[in-house]
Amino acid sequence: MEEDLKKKLFRNKTTGWENASEKEKEEINEVSKSYMDFLNKAKTEREFIKCAKELADSNGYKDIMTFETLKPGDKIYFVNRKKSMYLAIIGENGIENGLHIIGSHVDSPRLDLKPNPLFEEGGLAYFKTHYYGGIKKYQWTTIPLSMHGVIVKTNGETVEINIGENEDDPIFTITDLLPHLAQEQMEKKLKNGIDGENLSLLIGSIPFKNGDKKVPEGVKLNILNILNQKYGITEEDLTSAEIELVPAFRARTMGLDGSMVAAYGQDDKVCAYTSLHAMMELENVKNTAVCILSDKEEIGSIGNTGMESHMFDFFISEILNKLGVNRPNLLDRVFCSSKMLSSDVDAGFDPLYASVSDTTNAGYIGRGISLNKYTGSRGKSGASDANAEYVAWVRNVLEKNNIRYQVAELGKVDIGGGGTIAYIIANKGADVIDCGVPVLSMHAPYEVTSKFDVYSAYKTYKAFWQEQ
Ligand code: MN
Ligand code: MN
Repeated sequence: MEEDLKKKLFRNKTTGWENASEKEKEEINEVSKSYMDFLNKAKTEREFIKCAKELADSNGYKDIMTFETLKPGDKIYFVNRKKSMYLAIIGENGIENGLHIIGSHVDSPRLDLKPNPLFEEGGLAYFKTHYYGGIKKYQWTTIPLSMHGVIVKTNGETVEINIGENEDDPIFTITDLLPHLAQEQMEKKLKNGIDGENLSLLIGSIPFKNGDKKVPEGVKLNILNILNQKYGITEEDLTSAEIELVPAFRARTMGLDGSMVAAYGQDDKVCAYTSLHAMMELENVKNTAVCILSDKEEIGSIGNTGMESHMFDFFISEILNKLGVNRPNLLDRVFCSSKMLSSDVDAGFDPLYASVSDTTNAGYIGRGISLNKYTGSRGKSGASDANAEYVAWVRNVLEKNNIRYQVAELGKVDIGGGGTIAYIIANKGADVIDCGVPVLSMHAPYEVTSKFDVYSAYKTYKAFWQEQ
């Protein structure tokens, strides 16, 4: 009797795998496989947007700038400086009924090359780096790194760089001190163990040869000569480049039971991919469906490719213009009646570090999509707090569609905190809630998610867009 009552009244805390049918397990594996394949092609924001555009093109989406007018059913996108992208399907309902927006980010923590990266020391050539986003620096030494990005020459020509992903490519690494000589280093606080200025990438050791003559800075010269022959660039050209170092690991199935995904950049490519994947399967939505793939979230969403920029307003205004309905104040009105899922990852409960989590309010790997009613830190400072009415609306969508979800908080009170792009769209007047996949080892070179949650994210985003 009390068991029945418990089942009726208690929150469901079992793993999603427990009740997954064989058919569901198949679907889980399918979505996870396409996710991992995508990750292996799209490790940086530029690569993600390039692949997303290709996927959109092959699914009947077209650049909004090619349309004179828009009508319900039209599938459009706008690519902002090759680093962020907005996609939409025009809904059947009038646009003043609001948009259904899902917004994620496609940038991830990494190491960027400095503008003047190259130097030689002790017969070795290096690239200096400047880390991007919140990283634990020690995690980025002694792992295989690959080099991705662009070098733009003054004549406008762009050289694309991608070294270290193919089996035949060389990879790169950042060295660390051997334990035998690390007595002093090991006494330091973990955050000071590796100096930011020491995150230099080892890239060469052969000096340029000119007969028997010893050439000063010969290793550096040899590297520049290789780069010049391969890409036609000089040292100066590296100042107008954006080259990112990311782990050379591939996305892999993890665990003896194959239940998890280990990969670089799952924050937030797991939400970016699952929302994009869901959007590609959408047809005939009632409310205009919008998918945001934003950049620069990891460093505060600023700049013209970040969510704080007016580029998104510009995109929606273009839709209003091309629908032929625009009038003063309409943009505000549209935002005020819009609903959004800020699709960003949540901290998964890690039993090895249980002390940082409130176990009754943590997001657990394998229990489905994780909703954060609010983010922020300390006394909810900086929080984007979803209204109870909206949380209930979202819960209803999830429950109707049999989607497993959990409502969680990022860590214990006063332990830390975080934020996403939620507040930016909430400030425009939309109802917003954070809604994403729980991750273990967030911001590390290799992050872990549950395939069940990846699948739940895909189902959630699709159901949200299909909701009236
Ligand atoms: Mn994120
Ligand atoms: Mn992050």
